[in-house]
This record gives sequence, C-alpha cells and structure tokens, in this order.
Amino acid sequence: MNAIDKITLNRMRFYGYHGALPEEKKIGQRFLVDVTLSVDLYQAGISDRLDQTINYAQVYSIVREIVEGPSCKLIERVAERIAETLLNTFSMAQSCLIRVIKPDPPIAGHYDSVAVEVIRKRSIAYVGLGSNMGDRPYLLRQALRKLDRTENVRVVRCSSIYETDPYGPVKQNDFLNMAIQIETLLPPDQLLDRLQRIELALKRKREIHWGPRTIDLDMLLFNQDNIDMEKLSVPHPEIARRAFVLRPLEEIAPHLVVPRLNRSVTELWQNLKEKEGVRLWKRNNGEGEFGLFEN
Ligand code: AMP
Repeated sequence: MNAIDKITLNRMRFYGYHGALPEEKKIGQRFLVDVTLSVDLYQAGISDRLDQTINYAQVYSIVREIVEGPSCKLIERVAERIAETLLNTFSMAQSCLIRVIKPDPPIAGHYDSVAVEVIRKRSIAYVGLGSNMGDRPYLLRQALRKLDRTENVRVVRCSSIYETDPYGPVKQNDFLNMAIQIETLLPPDQLLDRLQRIELALKRKREIHWGPRTIDLDMLLFNQDNIDMEKLSVPHPEIARRAFVLRPLEEIAPHLVVPRLNRSVTELWQNLKEKEGVRLWKRNNGEGEFGLFEN
C-alpha cells in the first residue's frame, strides 16, 4: 500500500558551511530544511503509541547532524544525504521529500532564497540468480551476501533453490536458480551496476554466449516500472518464457502483476507450456542465512 499520510518538519534552521565558494566554507551561512515523510499513520492513530510512528525529534537530530556536519560543495549533496539517512533509519517511511534552502546565498540580485528539492523513495525489485559452474551453492550464497551488504540494498525474501536443465544450444551443466525480492534506494541503472559488479567479483565468465557461467544476476522487475534503456530492459524480456525464472518467482510473489504483460506471476507460470526441467534442490525453510544456508 502506498502511504498517503505524512509527517512534516518545516523550516528547521541551522548554521552550516556548505557551498562551492571559499567564503561559504569559511564564514558559513544559514540553512533551512523542510522534510516530508510518507508513512502509514493509521496504526499510530489507533494505538496512540510512539513506537508505531516516526519520532520527529529523531528526524530533527539526523538532519541537524548532516547540515551542521562536514562541508559539502552542493546543497544537492546535503539533500541526498538527508534523504538516504532518513530512509535507511526509518523503515516505516516509504518516501521522503527534502528541501534544502539557502536564504542568503552569496550572489548578487533580488530574490528570497535558493533551494533544491529531492524526492526519494524505497523501491522493490526482484532479481533472478543462476549458477552452473564451480561451487554453485557457494556462489549463490556469496552473491546474496554481497548484494545484502551493498549500500542502500537489502535482501528481503529468498525463494528455494531449484536445479534446472541448461537453457539454449550449448551443452553444459545443470543450473541452480533462485529468485529474490530486494528493497533498494537506488535507481534501476545503479542497481544494474551493482549486480554487474557482483557478477564480476564472482568472476563470471562471459566468453561463450549462452554458455556456462559462475553467476548470473538478472533484474526481473523494478516496482511496476517499464524500463527501456540501452543496457536495461525491465520487466526482463524473457520473464514469461523461462520456467527457471517463473517457478522460484512464483514461490515468493505469486500475485505480483508483471507490467506490460498485465498477468500475475502465477498466471504466467500456469500458462507456460514448457514447465519441465525445474526441480526443487533446496527448500527455503526460514532457518539459517537467507533461510537456505546453515550458519
Ligand atoms: P546476460 O548475459 O543475460 O546476463 O545479459 C547481460 C546484458 O543484458 C547486460 O549487458 C545488461 O546490460 C543487459 N540487460 C538488459 N536488461 C537486463 C536486466 N533486466 N537484467 C540484467 N541485465 C540486463
């Protein structure tokens, strides 16, 4: 559900040293900050409990620490840091709007103030993982760890691991495949960049098209977005044709509607003609690391 309730803190006043000009760094100036957090406040409204909402005193002290802290050249950077820290601190907040205002910037002319405003939100993405070379479960586990430790990315849910027949014309070993849900503050192209860095770190071999790979990370879905960039297509173009994607995805997100196709994952799975060749290999029992691996 998208929260339409809001918590706002308006015109917080600080003195800081941000700016590109030497005098701004040396003498400093006033900064005003507005924060709007989108949060579902229904439970707090019913229970009257502070732990079911966001404590605005805590919001204030986070903003203060950033604005009164180390100098940045740009108020864009200040706003970004505030947005990121607030969304990482308060999991209840679905999105935030941050306005950073310089009421007395060191430029000539007649105006009230200059300001930047950024809106940042938490996104939900689904990623498909596959490995058919080397120590396959180890590689899946390493990829999950690296992803979960990536800044502004959190692994929320993991499917079971499935063993699947290799896909395409090249003769090769069976794959292990799984699907995961992640929560991220990154935009989709940045998330793709992080996935590719993990592939590289785990020494994915790219020599043979369709050939064996130590680890493959595909962005299956990003919110309900349709993305057509040169290096990124989301929903993943092959999503509806691949049993090894739909089977694990159906386990963790059966009712999720795939944009463009406008069908739920379950419907896509049921409509898929070639379901063979996907076998449960390790069930996610909720125990251990990611519910799959002994600690
Ligand atoms: P693959 O060898 O199947 O992993 O394909 C990797 C290439 O596909 C990369 O060059 C990506 O830029 C591109 N690509 C396009 N859309 C996606 C997506 N949704 N997830 C991952 N890679 C993608």
